[in-house]
Amino acid sequence: MRGKQRDLLVDAGLGHFSLRAHVPMLGERPVVCVSSHAHFDHIGSTHEFDLHLAHPAEAEIFADPRPEWTLAAGYANEEMFIAPPEGWDSAAYRVEPCPATGFLEDGDVVDLGDRRFEVIHTPGHSPGGIALFERATGTLIAGDIVYDGDLIDDTFHSDRDAYRASLDRLATLPVRIVHGGHFQSFGPTRLRQLVAAYKG
Ligand SMILES: [Zn+2]
Ligand SMILES: [Zn+2]
Repeated sequence: MRGKQRDLLVDAGLGHFSLRAHVPMLGERPVVCVSSHAHFDHIGSTHEFDLHLAHPAEAEIFADPRPEWTLAAGYANEEMFIAPPEGWDSAAYRVEPCPATGFLEDGDVVDLGDRRFEVIHTPGHSPGGIALFERATGTLIAGDIVYDGDLIDDTFHSDRDAYRASLDRLATLPVRIVHGGHFQSFGPTRLRQLVAAYKG
C-alpha cells in the first residue's frame, strides 16, 4: 500500500528470494513492514526492513524464529509449492531473526500520511495475529485468520475459541474487500460465508 509519507508492506513472504532485490519500489521511500503473525511464510524477508511492527504476543518468535515456532518444521517443504522455485532446498531453509522494532496492539493505527489502517487483534490461528482495516475504503488485510481456503486452527499455538471470536468480530466490520494471507481476495458476502462455514 502506498501512502503519502510512507509505504506499508504487510508480510514479507517466504524469504527464498530477497524482497528488496526483487521489488525495487520498496527502496524508493520509507517502508513500514507490518507482520500479520510470525509464521515462516509471512516473515522470510522481514529482516530486510528497518521498521518492523507486530503484535507483542509473538515477539519471541520474531526474535528467535526456530522452525518449530514458525511452522517451517512441518510446512516448509516441496509439497507447499505447485512447483518449487529455483534453488529451493527444504533442508537448508532458515528464517532470519527479525525482532519487532515496535509493537501494535488492538486499536492502534498505522498511519501512512493519507491512509489509516486500524489494528485488529485476531488471535486464533496464532496468538499474536493482527488484521489491518482501512475504514475509508473498507479494505481488510486479514493475515491467516481468514482467507478463501482451508483455515488452519490446529498448530501448536492455535486456539479455536479465540478463532471463532476473531471471525465474529471481522464479520461485523463494514468490509468491501478482504485480502487474506493466502489465495484470492474476496468481498463481504464471501467473508460471511467463510465465517459461517468455519463455525459450522
Ligand atoms: Zn500462518
Ligand atoms: Zn500463511
